[in-house]
Amino acid sequence: MSSSSVGRRLEGKVAIVTGGASGIGASTVQLFHDNGAKVVIADIQDNLGQALSDKLNDNVCYIHCDVSDEDQVRTLVNDTVSKFGHLDIMYNNAGVMNGVFNSIVTTEKKDIERMLSVNLVGAFMGAKHAARVMIPNKKGCILFTASCCTKIGGISTHSYAASKYGIVGLTKNLAAELGFHGIRVNCISPFGVLTGSDIDETKEEYFEKMMSAVGNLKGNVLKAEDIAKAAVYLASDEACYVSGMNFVVDGGYSVVNPTLM
Ligand code: NAD
Repeated sequence: MSSSSVGRRLEGKVAIVTGGASGIGASTVQLFHDNGAKVVIADIQDNLGQALSDKLNDNVCYIHCDVSDEDQVRTLVNDTVSKFGHLDIMYNNAGVMNGVFNSIVTTEKKDIERMLSVNLVGAFMGAKHAARVMIPNKKGCILFTASCCTKIGGISTHSYAASKYGIVGLTKNLAAELGFHGIRVNCISPFGVLTGSDIDETKEEYFEKMMSAVGNLKGNVLKAEDIAKAAVYLASDEACYVSGMNFVVDGGYSVVNPTLM
């Protein structure tokens, strides 16, 4: 880890990271912790989440939480406040993906509902219960992970894009309401980070091919830590005037003129 990403920028803050057991979430847990925050890892992958908590040990704990179940999200927030006294940062990062593309004609309603229930409704509930405990304190930061597919069409399935566009709308609307309570709300839109359990050579090759079209990246794929660094910034007081934003971290992929590719 580079020394520039480690400081005490979140000293005294308490954070929840959903989907914190792997990928972008796990990297963010690590960086939040390195920056002085107390962190609750929330996920459904109990072995991975507990192992990360054990590794970091100090001021980090794991709580099982399926974000698509509001009761579990309510309990997650209440247990965090009971353990650490308050909640400053709610990073609604848990998400599911379902491939790169499928036709609307073959898209099943049950798959759309599953996608929305985790990526959009789950994140919505995380924000709702975080706001419930942040409003009396008149401060807080709510973050979401959206996706670069909110900037460019045709790079994800329709249901995934719909779920992530929902996150961008929610971010703006919540920022408008919660700004009156001292709470900032932002989302991060990553692209091209090799995460999850389905990484194989084909996926790696596909990502590298796409990234080779982006001058800034010179064929390198992004790392989970690159997104985590953005999360640290947005969660810190350095971003005290940043709210309602869709913060894109894609190496410039979404702004490259396709005729250059
Ligand atoms: P990942 O699969 O490594 O992490 C997702 C995590 O969410 C996993 O730990 C998983 O167990 C957890 N999760 C899934 N369903 C859950 C549920 N119902 N309740 C609680 N936790 C649940 O993948 P990642 O790339 O780190 O994804 C993190 C976020 O970033 C997701 O929201 C994803 O849509 C978004 N994203 C990723 C990329 C990328 O390039 N990797 C690009 C755009 C957006």
